[in-house]
Amino acid sequence: MQNSLPANTSDLLSALRELDAGIHKHTTWLKSLHRSLVCNSPPGEEDVLPDAHCHCQFGLWYYGQPHPELRERACFESIGTLHQAVHDNARALLCKSQDGQVISTDEYNQFMDTALQFKFEVGKLQGHIINQICVVDHLTGVWNRSGMQHKLEEEHDRMVRGGQPCCVCMVDLDDFKRINDTYGHPVGDQVLRATTQLLNDKLRKYDAIFRYGGEEFLLCLPGSVLEDALVLMERLRSELAALPIEIKDKGVIHVSASFGLAMMSLDENVASTIEQADHALLSAKANGRNRVCVWRLDGRLP
Ligand code: GH3
Ligand code: MG
Ligand code: MG
Repeated sequence: MQNSLPANTSDLLSALRELDAGIHKHTTWLKSLHRSLVCNSPPGEEDVLPDAHCHCQFGLWYYGQPHPELRERACFESIGTLHQAVHDNARALLCKSQDGQVISTDEYNQFMDTALQFKFEVGKLQGHIINQICVVDHLTGVWNRSGMQHKLEEEHDRMVRGGQPCCVCMVDLDDFKRINDTYGHPVGDQVLRATTQLLNDKLRKYDAIFRYGGEEFLLCLPGSVLEDALVLMERLRSELAALPIEIKDKGVIHVSASFGLAMMSLDENVASTIEQADHALLSAKANGRNRVCVWRLDGRLP
């Protein structure tokens, strides 16, 4: 979890669908291969070619235009290597069978072990993608709360071991209920998306945005001390307040948010830092909204 925005859910779903179709094609091929071996029916012409792995339905997809979300993963390459090995083994079995030679148990086992390993690796990649989909908030595209604790614990450990500071900031849209009441829920949704888009555009790539609740977001700002984070949050606050949000047939609307900032410390756990950020947020609300309040380590709020 490195970027403020996770991979796009619809890209992940498309990638998942392609993998599903790919593994289905491969299973169909496996069935026809077994038919040739067991029933002595003639093999597919392309199955005995030296580059059979490029000609099967899975190979045509794999070496064609697989989704970039898959192509860029290291395990996608090893899936290709395993797929080729499956075909190399299959070709050896087919040639023996056609020559009337007996296929040894070891040869058959080696083929099936490779085929099963290939299927296992594809399943593992599907599992990774499903996990990724589960940690994304589908309305806004930011992380949901499931991965938040883990990320914050990681940053806390980094601070304890290496002394790297980390701030967290709770951001809550002001009078958001009024936006829903005035313009309707879909417009409220659009405002939530515009807000997270701005946060993502303005934050650094190693910061992370979590949807904490309805119109509430938690920002994790590694490497920042309070003073630096305050400058960054002030800038975000004013840019959000100035952001024109174009609503179809309704013109432009503006929103603001209140920010509560706190810094992790050696003797406080992650839950306490979140609580402090929450207190600072309440103070920002109580002091008129559209402002940033900071929880100081001595417990004072400015
Ligand atoms: P405050 O300035 O004190 O934060 O006031 P507020 O109106 O923003 O806060 P309140 O808690 O009263 O209202 C939050 C609203 O956010 C109520 C809820 O319907 C709305 N909300 C929560 N999740 C979503 C969502 O996913 N989409 C939309 N459109 N609205 C949502
Ligand atoms: Mg609110
Ligand atoms: Mg709220």
